[in-house]
Amino acid sequence: MKGAAFAAPFLFLLQPKWFVFLHTLSRSCASHHRVKRPCYPLAKCFQEPVEPLPSGFYIKGHRSEMGRWLKREKGWRPVAEKRQADYDLIIVGGGPAGSTAALYAARHGLKTLLVDKKRFPRDKVCGDGISGKCITILRELNLLDRLHRSPHRWINGVLFSSPDGTQFRIRTANPNPDDNDHGYVCRREVFDALLLDAARQKVEVLEHAPVVDLVHSNGSVAGVKIKQAGGSEAEITARVVVGADGFNSVVARKTGAYQHDSRHWLVATRAYYRGVQGLSDVIELHYLRESLPGYFWIFPAEGDLANVGIIFLHRKMKKKGIRLKEAHLAALQKPLFAERFAGAEQLGPIAGWNLPVGSIRRQVHGEGWVLLGDAAGLIDPFTGGGIGNAMLSGKIAAQTLAELLAEGQAPNRQNLGLYSKRVWAALGGELKLGYRLQRLANFGPLINLIVHKAAAHPDIADWIAGMSKGTLPKSELVSPLTYLRLLFT
Ligand SMILES: Cc1cc2nc3c(=O)[nH]c(=O)nc-3n(C[C@H](O)[C@H](O)[C@H](O)COP(=O)(O)OP(=O)(O)OC[C@H]3O[C@@H](n4cnc5c(N)ncnc54)[C@H](O)[C@@H]3O)c2cc1C
Repeated sequence: MKGAAFAAPFLFLLQPKWFVFLHTLSRSCASHHRVKRPCYPLAKCFQEPVEPLPSGFYIKGHRSEMGRWLKREKGWRPVAEKRQADYDLIIVGGGPAGSTAALYAARHGLKTLLVDKKRFPRDKVCGDGISGKCITILRELNLLDRLHRSPHRWINGVLFSSPDGTQFRIRTANPNPDDNDHGYVCRREVFDALLLDAARQKVEVLEHAPVVDLVHSNGSVAGVKIKQAGGSEAEITARVVVGADGFNSVVARKTGAYQHDSRHWLVATRAYYRGVQGLSDVIELHYLRESLPGYFWIFPAEGDLANVGIIFLHRKMKKKGIRLKEAHLAALQKPLFAERFAGAEQLGPIAGWNLPVGSIRRQVHGEGWVLLGDAAGLIDPFTGGGIGNAMLSGKIAAQTLAELLAEGQAPNRQNLGLYSKRVWAALGGELKLGYRLQRLANFGPLINLIVHKAAAHPDIADWIAGMSKGTLPKSELVSPLTYLRLLFT
């Protein structure tokens, strides 16, 4: 009796006209989304979406009775209908830039969706060096403890070597683990998952969801198109689209901001090794003659793991016909390293990747969009470090967008210029200096001079330590007076 009472309201579905309606609906969904098989019930319109779709999804093109039904029942809306955006922000990319932006956006109360084409934890080709700028932000986000609980290595200093093989070491931190001024080496598989997990607790996150295009409305970017398993595309709208999708940024490409200008790229390899001799609590930067102004690095990671790679100017690599993998392997055979790597085991392949550096000022905002991190080309041209700048750009973007949206200002090109202005105010000086240092580092004899002097005079080593810690201005390094002084020390 109870069951019959429950079923009574649904008996009308047995009428033949409803079967026709539902059949038409399933065909219609299939054609709209190029789904090969019929997709009744409705949830199957998105053929086994790789992730549950967030609220606010809608099926493109359904006007009429069915559209109204979807709207009422599911909150999905026909694309032609004028409507509120699904989110304040859609952040494309869940690396350090995107996750940081999401965490700050949540603090500012913005309705945010973060999408990444990969499922985390995922690897990212990197040296895994986590610098002071990252630590400041992690501390602000109350995430430093999580980093301490994850596999990592404390870093207390840097070892430099010059093209002629001279070495010196600086301390950048007190060796006491209770002090807070350490750097870290933390594999990106671990570090990025830590950030994304934190973001997942605050905003909606969609993984394994590649953004393939942007949605436009009235000349402005108004959302993203995501490719789903089976090839169908879904559209999600937002007031602002934040491109944190790295070097190959689809947001930068689709908005026309991407420039193929390899004069402002570095290229680097990375491989992990177990059993490298002589690892300690310092990261190692070895300026080899053939890599200048780039270097060969050995970064100790957790346990007896080491992150090893070599970095070049892209144009130098092309001009000299350097093959990255061969250069990496050749470096391991150099007299300074051969013994250390003799019994080491390489784990996984030698991977390579591009680093877009901030030696030019790229376009990082437009109508309804902004770019962060590598998508904005914010890597330091001298060190190749980009995680801290990526995170900082995420923080600045979230703050700026929250202010603009709260004040009811349209996220247009003119207003979003504020983000660009703030990013360059925060990072422009550093990036310019990094470019000048990059050019200076092309001269092997100059690197030899600095390293010789620092190896022989602890006060010069302390002065370099002060600059790398940020307690002394790095600008002294590009002053001709500095080199005159070094010559006569
Ligand atoms: C070999 C190498 C060594 C480096 N070493 C260091 C170092 O030691 N320290 C340091 O500070 N920096 C280092 N860097 C630079 C650093 O890796 C980058 O600056 C940093 O990763 C930038 O972070 P991001 O969030 O902007 O981009 P990414 O870390 O590249 O993240 C981008 C994210 O976007 C996602 N994505 C891409 N396309 C799409 C799409 N279409 N749809 C959805 N999602 C998408 C990706 O899956 C990825 O998760 C190194 C770089 C290289 C190449």
